[in-house]
Amino acid sequence: MRKGSVIIDREMCKGCLLCIRACPFGVLTEDTEMNTAGVYPAFVKNPDACTACSSCYRVCPDCAITVYLDEGDA
Ligand code: SF4
Ligand code: SF4
Repeated sequence: MRKGSVIIDREMCKGCLLCIRACPFGVLTEDTEMNTAGVYPAFVKNPDACTACSSCYRVCPDCAITVYLDEGDA
């Protein structure tokens, strides 16, 4: 299985949590700490399970997610 990396910009995130439902591999969850806007952003709880499928990236309305395909796995 190819390996990816996902980065959440927790200050851009508005806490809609759509990305958590969109991830087929359980990589994301809700953070336990608020950002400066007072919302609980998405949090990468299981980074090793990310396959760079980009489902989370596609559903994010605020472009708060960046997905990388790890080198050598293209
Ligand atoms: S979809 Fe985007 S805005 Fe919504 S919780 Fe995830 S990162 Fe935040
Ligand atoms: S790229 Fe795919 S596997 Fe990785 S966190 Fe996003 S939805 Fe989950």
